[in-house]
Amino acid sequence: MATLRPVGGEGAPVLALDIGGTKLAAGVVDAAGTVHSFVAAPSEPERGPDDGLARLFELGRQAVAEAGAEIGSTGNGPTGIGAVGIGCGGPLDSERGVLLSPLHLPGWRDVPVVELARAAFDVPAALENDATAAAAGEHRFGAGAGTRHMVYLTVSTGVGGGVVADGRLYRGAMGNGGELGHVTVDCNGRVCRGCGRRGCLEAYASGTSIAERAVEALAASGAPSILRALERPTAADVAAAARDGDALAAAVWDETVSALACGLTSIVNLFEPELVVLGGGVTRAGEQLIGPVRDAVRSDAVRPAGEPVGVVRSALGDHVGIVGAATIVYDRLASGVMLAHG
Ligand SMILES: [Zn+2]
Repeated sequence: MATLRPVGGEGAPVLALDIGGTKLAAGVVDAAGTVHSFVAAPSEPERGPDDGLARLFELGRQAVAEAGAEIGSTGNGPTGIGAVGIGCGGPLDSERGVLLSPLHLPGWRDVPVVELARAAFDVPAALENDATAAAAGEHRFGAGAGTRHMVYLTVSTGVGGGVVADGRLYRGAMGNGGELGHVTVDCNGRVCRGCGRRGCLEAYASGTSIAERAVEALAASGAPSILRALERPTAADVAAAARDGDALAAAVWDETVSALACGLTSIVNLFEPELVVLGGGVTRAGEQLIGPVRDAVRSDAVRPAGEPVGVVRSALGDHVGIVGAATIVYDRLASGVMLAHG
C-alpha cells in the first residue's frame, strides 16, 4: 500500500464532500482555502446509503463542473482535482475510511465511503469526523489561524467539536475523539437523541433541543408568547422572540446559554485553549448567544485557564464543512499519511 499523491500534485484543488443529517454538500476548495464552488441538497438519510452516496457523488460532479475543473484520470491539467475529502458525523473509522454507524444517519452501517468515493472519482480519498475536520479548517484558514491551542464547537442540529492541541489536530484512537457535544451538563437531565445518555450538552444546546424545549414550555404553561402563533417554532424563532422580549422564549434561550456555558467551561478546563470558535446554525444568533457564554466561561473556568480565553464565531460560516474536509486532505499530505489504497 503505497502513499498516493493527488493526481495534480500536493497543491491541487480538492473535491470536498460533507455528509450532514439534514444536508449533503460538495465544493471545490484549493490549497489556500478558497472555495471555487459550493452546492448542497437535502440528505434524506432514510433513503439509505446507496441512494445517499449516489446523490452525494452526483453533487460532487456538479461542484467540479461549476468550478470549471476536472477530476479523475482526465484531471491531470492545471484544473485537475487531485483528491476527495469527506466529512461525516461519527462514529466512523477514519483510518479505514468506513462510516461505522453515524448517529445522524440511522441505518448507514459499515459503509466503506472512501473506497466508494475512490471508485467513483478515480482519485485518492480521505474521511474525517466532520466536526474534527471543521476544527482543522478553522485552524488553518479561519478564525483560529495562528493559534496553537483551539477548540471548535458546532452548535447545529446536533452539537459536535474538535480540538487542536499544541498545533495538532487531536483525533483520538480511530478519529472519534473530541465528541464535545456529549460532555455532560446534567447527569440526570434530558435524554440525548444523539447517544442515548442523559444530560449531554447536545440535549440542551442543539437547535433541535431549543425547538423541542420551546414546544414543551408552551404546552406546560398558559403564559402568552408570540411563539404560540407558529405551527413549529425553530431555534431561530426562539432566538428572535427572546430578542423581542418574549418571556417564555427568553427562558428557553437563557437555559440554552447556561447549558452551553456549563459544557464549554468544562471543555476549557480540560484543554486550556487560547480560543474557542463557535460555528453551526444556532450561532447565527451572534452575540445574543456568544456574549453571555463568553462572560460565563471567563468567570467560571478554573483560573487562570479560562480568564483570557477568546470565544468567537466561525469565520468560515456555511463553508466550514467543505473547507474542513479539504483541510484534512492537505493536512494528511503534509504529514505524509496515506490517503487511500486502491
Ligand atoms: Zn449525548
